Amino acid sequence: MNLRQKLEERLGETIAQADEGALYYALLGLTKEISSGKEENQGDKKVYYISAEFLIGKLLSNNLINLGIYDEVRELLEENGKSLVEIEEIEPEPSLGNGGLGRLAACFMDSIATLGLNGAGIGLNYHYGLFRQVLESYKQKEVKNPWIEKESWLTDTGIHFPVIFKNFTLTSVMYDIDIPGYESGINKLHLFDTESVDEGMVDEGITFDKEDIRRNLTLFLYPDDSDEAGQLLRIYQQYFMVSSGAQLILKEMDEKGYDIRRLYEHVVIQINDTHPSMVIPELIRLLTERGISFDEAAEIVTKTCAYTNHTILAEALEKWPLAYLEQVVPHLIPIIEKLDARVKEKYADEKVAIIDENDRVHMAHMDIHYGFSVNGVAALHTEILKNAELKSFYEIYPEKFNNKTNGITFRRWLMHCNPALSSYITKLIGEGWKKDASQLEKLLAYTEDEEALEELLCIKQKNKRELKEYLQTSQGVDISEESVFDIQIKRLHEYKRQQMNALYVIYKYKEIKAGRLPDIPVTIIFGAKAAPAYTLAKDIIHLILCLQELINQDPDVAPYLKIVMVENYNVTKAEKLIPACDISEQISLASKEASGTGNMKFMLNGAVTLGTMDGANVEIHDLVGSDNIYIFGKRSEEVIRLYETNGYQPRKYYESDPAIGELVDFIISKDMIKIGDPENLCRLYKELISKDWFMTLLDLKAYIAEKERMLEDYKDRKNWAGKMLVNIAKAGFFSSDRTIAEYNKEIWDL
Ligand SMILES: *Cc1c(COP(=O)(O)O)cnc(C)c1O
Repeated sequence: MNLRQKLEERLGETIAQADEGALYYALLGLTKEISSGKEENQGDKKVYYISAEFLIGKLLSNNLINLGIYDEVRELLEENGKSLVEIEEIEPEPSLGNGGLGRLAACFMDSIATLGLNGAGIGLNYHYGLFRQVLESYKQKEVKNPWIEKESWLTDTGIHFPVIFKNFTLTSVMYDIDIPGYESGINKLHLFDTESVDEGMVDEGITFDKEDIRRNLTLFLYPDDSDEAGQLLRIYQQYFMVSSGAQLILKEMDEKGYDIRRLYEHVVIQINDTHPSMVIPELIRLLTERGISFDEAAEIVTKTCAYTNHTILAEALEKWPLAYLEQVVPHLIPIIEKLDARVKEKYADEKVAIIDENDRVHMAHMDIHYGFSVNGVAALHTEILKNAELKSFYEIYPEKFNNKTNGITFRRWLMHCNPALSSYITKLIGEGWKKDASQLEKLLAYTEDEEALEELLCIKQKNKRELKEYLQTSQGVDISEESVFDIQIKRLHEYKRQQMNALYVIYKYKEIKAGRLPDIPVTIIFGAKAAPAYTLAKDIIHLILCLQELINQDPDVAPYLKIVMVENYNVTKAEKLIPACDISEQISLASKEASGTGNMKFMLNGAVTLGTMDGANVEIHDLVGSDNIYIFGKRSEEVIRLYETNGYQPRKYYESDPAIGELVDFIISKDMIKIGDPENLCRLYKELISKDWFMTLLDLKAYIAEKERMLEDYKDRKNWAGKMLVNIAKAGFFSSDRTIAEYNKEIWDL
């Protein structure tokens, strides 16, 4: 049967008669059917990628591309007057992740499958995700973000595991999502849910009874943990995930008839950040239950587990009070204590203990002692781990440390989101780059080619027009496609320094007010969710929204400067924003951004980076050369030294430099207070001049100067197009296919 017949059979009507909704569900069913008929990737050894998040994005187009039927489906629909892009609008984006770490896990699943590797993902099936962001009265409001419908990408496998907690046992239910590799076999993403989950228990916004674990466990990703009940809930979630995962792994070992004493010959568990760290004591527990001695079990598990570190922010490294673990999983306590005792016997250094003097369990420390690999996610990040953050561990286990610079899947972040650029690249250099991203370098032959450069600018212009239309229909905002699109989209965090960009906005506003008008108008686009309990992050959103309003209302400024805050930033929005970007804002405080992957997506789509020497920006700089990236600000060594010596005093910058002072003062100016909430604005103002933990003012002047230089250079369109081309050509290194090939060669050995 051909595609049309199959689709019409599912529809019960012709394609031409069907509406977008019916077409979406028919395509969903058909795509699931086709991928379930595909061969699963096989092998004697399997990688299990365990992660609290998988930010997979919508799957319809992605899966059609990977299954090799995207063009056929699109043409079939077009012949019948239907648009795949419009049909895709029906699909809800899965609420299974929140930021870079989750998106990385999703890109990795795509690349593991594409490289034909035997692998699976293990995670939780959140019903409401983190939250959906609503912008109201210049503030962020959080509401639940449902995505699971009667028909979805989930398949109930019928597989269940008992998960034992102190006071009760929950049954986990395993749902699978198929991950088709690009023109390759398929892998599975296993998502565990509880049988007893109750979607109805959420009240206003995202509040619910945190203590009703049977009903609430899989409702939200990262539920508020500012109180004890919240922290306990997170422990419940983590243990539920890893116990189900560990039982699945052993079940698969048994089914294959493998000897569990040789677990490490058949299984490698990649622990994505510390959320799944309890898989170590849980596996030891399960192995000892099967008659293996504690020492041997610990050795087997150590040879099986590998840990990826994603951050050096101290507050993000999980440390659970032993007393909390005792309340949830008392059966792990003797194991964790034994593991800790063995460490303390060997190493006197307090800094490497698993249980500290306050009886808190350092999850990362457990991963490092009882895993065989520790990796950072960009060259600079790994160096900082080795030489500063995890120095004591590096001295004990130099052989465990390695770097795996992050990557992104080019299927989603170029072929799917930017079809025009994708086909133009193919026209210039052929198809080879889709399977071997390093071939993008062939584009360097066109750096002086007027026609190619002109076409790049045309494609960018078309994408900008499409974004303009999207923002018009989705949010009712009007932007000019003739302006420069300057985009900062990422989680809201002080270290990412959206506040520095906001201070630039104030600078530009004042310039325009003073009659110094830019030749080309500038549109500055933000997109960011703030954690619900992160007060300062929310204050920064408030500042941005107030500035947006102030400028909108000011006829002197509005024609030259426009601020847009995209509501509820997610993968779907990223896919629309990134292809349209001119200036990619990657301005984190040097040493604080482990890698970043947004930076890679932008570069691949022909945006030019404005950034600090942080995370993978360093590697982008090395690849494209200083003519094709705009770098400013203090370097990581200097920043680390400032922290060590307490040498940064924001008040000094504020008081001694009137150019800085007037920008900061503007936050609490009459104009701003008229629009905004004085409490939020004053708190932010005070924070900036008295603490400014992420050193905004340190780099502010350098940032403004570099952005101005960039806007000046933008005017020379041909020269700028050359920079775009070099960025695209050099992006091949950041394919997650390269990253995964390295994981396999140096860690997994599948
Ligand atoms: C890529 C991506 C991120 C990560 O962005 P960074 O700039 O690296 O922090 C976060 N959210 C979404 C939706 C993404 O697609």
